[in-house]
Amino acid sequence: MTEFTIRNHVLFVDGKQVAFRHSPNRSGTIVPDVLVLHDTAGRIEGKGESSIEWLCNPQARASAHLVMGREGDITQLVPFNVAAWHAGPSSFKGRNNVNAFSVGIEIVNPGSMTELAGRAKPWWDQTFDKAQYGIERRSTREHGDALWMPYTARQIEVSKLLCRALVRHYSIKDVTTHWAISPGRKVDTNPLFPLEDVRGYALGGGVPAPSAPASPPASKPAPAAPPAKTAAGKFGDVTADRLNFRRTANGEIIGSLPRGTRVEVNYFEREWINVTTPAGYSGFVHSNFVSII
Ligand SMILES: [Zn+2]
Repeated sequence: MTEFTIRNHVLFVDGKQVAFRHSPNRSGTIVPDVLVLHDTAGRIEGKGESSIEWLCNPQARASAHLVMGREGDITQLVPFNVAAWHAGPSSFKGRNNVNAFSVGIEIVNPGSMTELAGRAKPWWDQTFDKAQYGIERRSTREHGDALWMPYTARQIEVSKLLCRALVRHYSIKDVTTHWAISPGRKVDTNPLFPLEDVRGYALGGGVPAPSAPASPPASKPAPAAPPAKTAAGKFGDVTADRLNFRRTANGEIIGSLPRGTRVEVNYFEREWINVTTPAGYSGFVHSNFVSII
């Protein structure tokens, strides 16, 4: 049982305040309405102490509100009503300086790695056994081509519970990532992060969030979409529990979309639809499982 609550802009887990380390890298008061997920791109031991130390060092001129270790342990560095310096030059839906209206969450992960003698090498002097950590090679337009370490199941679970608690406490309208708000400059979170799962869980469940897919599980059958007809500008709701999200039509599965996710329909390719997810990913889903609206 893990239950997150917030009091006085400080995080509690199961009634107990999480570890708090003061970071001097902070500025004025904010009212957060977006959550930004990051990777530490640092060492993976413990609660992410090496990253915590750095984010509390004035020389870093960087910080985040929270750091989450591989076991899901959370350390808070900045209260949620104060700007942390996690985003840098950034833009979310036309609004610049995302630090001024967001909570930044750093998830411990080595970030982009290269191949070295059959092992995976991050930017610092260490290598990881690929099989032991389930490290995979992935290439995306947003991340480039690299080796990536999957997040632990506990990190995914805690991300969902934590984001949901923050969404409910503040007027959080969306959950995004550093790569989405600083495209071309940042690649975190990595391509293995199940962003749509976490986002759907955090925003779902009847939370009054305008940009959330508020539709109940659709029971109407998917329309027989004529493949030749363009549907650009339309939207669709996912009608399967976990709809495979693919890089190309019938191609590699790169994620899954929870039921009720509202996607933007870009175009049809035979029985497949190219869609853009609420977080900004583009890919293909099968038209049988999308109800066009
Ligand atoms: Zn980041």
